[in-house]
Amino acid sequence: MFSHSSDTVNTSGHPFIGVQWPVTGSKGDRYTVEMTDYGFSCNCPARVKCKHIKGIEAEFEA
Ligand SMILES: [Zn+2]
Repeated sequence: MFSHSSDTVNTSGHPFIGVQWPVTGSKGDRYTVEMTDYGFSCNCPARVKCKHIKGIEAEFEA
């Protein structure tokens, strides 16, 4: 699983590292986004930073 560095969240040493967020895709597929020390990972097939990760990042921008 790839980790994608975040432009909006400084994940290094973040207290939410290891936290997993369930995400439902546009086709009803279920994926899991996890914060790691290096950014965010998602278990969907996309190799680029996917909309699932971006959706979680957006929640940190509030
Ligand atoms: Zn994804």
